[in-house]
Amino acid sequence: MPLIRQELAEYGKKISAAGLSAGAGGNISAREGRLIWVKPSGLSMSELKGVNLCCVDIASGKQLEGKLKPTSELLMHLAVYRVRPDIQAIFHTHSPWASGVITAGVDFKPMFAEVVNDLGQIAAVPYVKTSTQELADAVAAAAQAHETIFLAHHGVVTLGKTMKQAFFRCCVAEDAAKSFVAASIVGKPAFLTDDQIRDLKSLSAGAYRLRMMES
Ligand code: 13P
Ligand code: ZN
Repeated sequence: MPLIRQELAEYGKKISAAGLSAGAGGNISAREGRLIWVKPSGLSMSELKGVNLCCVDIASGKQLEGKLKPTSELLMHLAVYRVRPDIQAIFHTHSPWASGVITAGVDFKPMFAEVVNDLGQIAAVPYVKTSTQELADAVAAAAQAHETIFLAHHGVVTLGKTMKQAFFRCCVAEDAAKSFVAASIVGKPAFLTDDQIRDLKSLSAGAYRLRMMES
């Protein structure tokens, strides 16, 4: 079992390889007891290494390890961990398709089963200035009852019971946005009906996939 910080750095590389964050955009963290490991500010996801991650105490916000300064969105990560004790990982990406679609004011409705079964509850947060306590408060408020949170003019935040689940949620959200744009180019996007969504939620296959994401 790799150390949490090594696993987190590997997920940074996966996020970068999946095209979900360019440059130094986005930040990721994972919980270890009363502490979190978090990306330093200004580093690209692709260059993350276990040794340069920062360790921060969730309750006090005090940095305990790491020579570099923690992400500028540290307040947001801390605020979400404080309201969601069940969550072990928070991934914030600047996913280009999902950010574009949400900033266009699109109501993110499910077109496919994985949006229903894998994203958890979905919320959209209107524009709030990056790296502020206001953004931390707005995301924490949404995170009380949602696991995939779209930030207008900014990006996406996903919560996971595991890093794998947070990562899958980033990937599914981005693919759903791409499909929405594809459908909008060739025709009119059609969404699953409320009955179809209810039916999908009861699928045992969906429950199985969720269990896999949470392990
Ligand atoms: P950091 O490099 O400080 O993590 O900032 C990136 C970001 O996504 C700000 O919202
Ligand atoms: Zn950001």
